[in-house]
Amino acid sequence: MSSTPATTMFDRASVDDVEYDFGARIDALRCHSTGSLRAIVADARREQQRWYLEELAATRVLDDRRALDGVPDASVSARTAKSNREVARSLESLPKVAAAAWAGGLTRDQLQPVTEVATSATDAEWAVRGTTVAPVDLQRMARTAKAVTAADAEARRKARFVSSWRDSEQGMAAGRWWLPDVDGVLVDKVLDHMAERMRPAKGMAWDSLAHRKADALVELARTYADAEPSGRFRIEIVEITDVRGCVTREVDGIPVASETVRAIRPDAKVREAVLDRTGTHTTHRSRTALPADVDRHVRRRDRHCRVPGCEATRGLQIHHCHPVGTHGDSHDPTELAGVCPPHHHILEPHGPYRLVGDAEDPEGLELVRREGPAP
Ligand SMILES: [Zn+2]
Repeated sequence: MSSTPATTMFDRASVDDVEYDFGARIDALRCHSTGSLRAIVADARREQQRWYLEELAATRVLDDRRALDGVPDASVSARTAKSNREVARSLESLPKVAAAAWAGGLTRDQLQPVTEVATSATDAEWAVRGTTVAPVDLQRMARTAKAVTAADAEARRKARFVSSWRDSEQGMAAGRWWLPDVDGVLVDKVLDHMAERMRPAKGMAWDSLAHRKADALVELARTYADAEPSGRFRIEIVEITDVRGCVTREVDGIPVASETVRAIRPDAKVREAVLDRTGTHTTHRSRTALPADVDRHVRRRDRHCRVPGCEATRGLQIHHCHPVGTHGDSHDPTELAGVCPPHHHILEPHGPYRLVGDAEDPEGLELVRREGPAP
């Protein structure tokens, strides 16, 4: 076989039906000659090695598809998973080293450090040289090869960037970052930690890691925005009424759903615009959707999230308990409740839950599932 590892002794389906007896296998091998046993060890290693390369190749493709982070494999240590991913990445540009591993010249213990010291220019050289150097020496060389100079550090810092852009057609904001060592570790760790702590609401499944990290990034921005006293980050909804009386709503030029407007309205500013026949906007002064005294009252009353059992206090948003009936435009404090951002997302009009009752009563609210199919 050329593209997949050669014959296997056991096929996968048989593992469950056949009881494996290691002792019996040893007994069976006792009558083999030493030469034949050595050949078995060599064969087994070569097969393992080829399956390992197969694992790496498939891992590489999954890595490209970003399909590895979402489903961490609990049966493999994080260290092994990371090492496999890195070896797979390096091997892609080291064809000779990969071929030497396939042929059995480089063992698995040698392969990992060789992928760290070899470059595409020294690929052929290391494919031969690596086979003769002990793994421990190769590891030492890999560590030396990785020594970082002050100039490297400076270059890393010079190369830093964050770029972000809008895709108005899809209504999304996108971004990419490239951060030097320590800064990158900090950002990574904070996002990971925040994502780790985003437990699902009771009875709901964990969201994907990618989703939770996205929420973490938004929460970082929101925390900064909330700490800014001028209110300059308060979301402004522009409601544009055209000549036929049709209303469309935008946030910073991005058209948004009326459900989104209903959800964010109590916390937002609203600016009305009228489109005349010449296509010109006449905009009115923006106003906060909630009168300042109602906003203050609700925020003073609700020191933590009003979803029963939730004690979150940070970044509370005002949720309207009847967003559908009143288009989220009510000033009645019995219908307005402070909720944390994750809970805000699972509430109507977006989410499958509804917060019902009298918000003025400290124990007056209850979380219920909405009737009808969840959106
Ligand atoms: Zn909450």
